[in-house]
Amino acid sequence: MNIHEYQGKDILKHYGVRIQEGIVVDTPALAVEAARELTARTGTKWHVIKAQIHAGGRGKGGGVKLAKSLDEVRSKSEEILGMQLITHQTSPEGKKVSKVLIAEDVYYPGVSEVKEFYVSILLDRAKGCNVIMASTEGGMDIEEVAEHSPEKIFKEWINPSVGLQQFQARKVAFALGLSGDAFREMVKFINSLYKAYIETDSSMFEINPVLKTSDNKILAVDAKVNLDDNALYRHPDFIPLRDVTEEDPLEVEASANDLNYVKLDGNVGCMVNGAGLAMATMDIIKLSGGHPANFLDVGGGANAKTVEAGFRIILKDPNVKAILINIFGGIVRCDRVATGVVEAYKAIGNIPVPIIVRLQGTNAAEGAKIIDDSGLKVFSAVLLKDAALRVEEVLKAM
Ligand code: GDP
Ligand code: MN
Repeated sequence: MNIHEYQGKDILKHYGVRIQEGIVVDTPALAVEAARELTARTGTKWHVIKAQIHAGGRGKGGGVKLAKSLDEVRSKSEEILGMQLITHQTSPEGKKVSKVLIAEDVYYPGVSEVKEFYVSILLDRAKGCNVIMASTEGGMDIEEVAEHSPEKIFKEWINPSVGLQQFQARKVAFALGLSGDAFREMVKFINSLYKAYIETDSSMFEINPVLKTSDNKILAVDAKVNLDDNALYRHPDFIPLRDVTEEDPLEVEASANDLNYVKLDGNVGCMVNGAGLAMATMDIIKLSGGHPANFLDVGGGANAKTVEAGFRIILKDPNVKAILINIFGGIVRCDRVATGVVEAYKAIGNIPVPIIVRLQGTNAAEGAKIIDDSGLKVFSAVLLKDAALRVEEVLKAM
């Protein structure tokens, strides 16, 4: 689960990580009030207005602006609030900004006096442990650094049974070329950050930039935090941090129905039981000349209710020209799935696109018969190859 910068910073602060202080607001009037309060609290002269959306690259897209007076706080908040913010991490339409973080200016007295670093912690799946990544090339696109100068990204892997060791935190600070107070601050920063990462069951923390201020403080200016969905039950206080307006509405509806759905941009909708089979089905669709419109795993119990929910979600995608249902009857019987498909079809009424149903496994023949006898615009197939051919025919006929 992704969360906003201001929420990520709240979590970091709770664990003792120094952050750029800020107050989140949703109107220009409240922005001015927040700016006043921040000045009283931190002594900051200037303020930064930061769009809160679940995507990076906001600065380049015009979603982060420096304000040098309260009038500018108001006018720049007015500009950013309600804007459709487009960055390299959003879709081409961008994302509507409904909240801004009013933050203290930490780049005093000037940009030349500070140093921006990159620090992230994430799970290295190949090595089976967490890795801390750090770079002196902070503030910019880390993907670009990784591609053109990978030697500038320092990596320190953490042994899960002993956790972060002090020599490792120091190694990171050395790698960033720090000394004196800034070095000690960075060691503290890395320690607190790692503790926060572990105790919140996160799968990614990306702090870009981590800033060394002109007075040698180390702090998080940005925070991209990904909490592990599977561990949310251990953190009930994180559940309200979810912002469904940032998620694809179809994916929200799917998760409410316990379906595992990921929207893609092809034209063949698919509904499958099992993630592995769903991946194989997407390959088959590609091989037959189509493009999968989605990944959809209906899980172990494909019944009329789950199939109906799946149909409704797939059909909301206007790009879908055909639907391929591919169910393996292992635990679930094919005749019951077929009955479910027919019932779901009737419950929805007129489905405007052809449906190809491939049932294999227990009672496959009975299942195919139910589909064929239904009189509906549904084609059955037992072999995956036949299903693929059907998809190809359907796409060609359009
Ligand atoms: P991102 O573009 O979405 O990654 O948003 P960031 O939070 O990383 O901010 C983008 C950029 O805004 C930073 O790299 C800085 O150049 C600038 N910025 C952020 N905070 C301040 C600040 O306090 N003062 C000044 N002058 N610039 C800032
Ligand atoms: Mn950033």
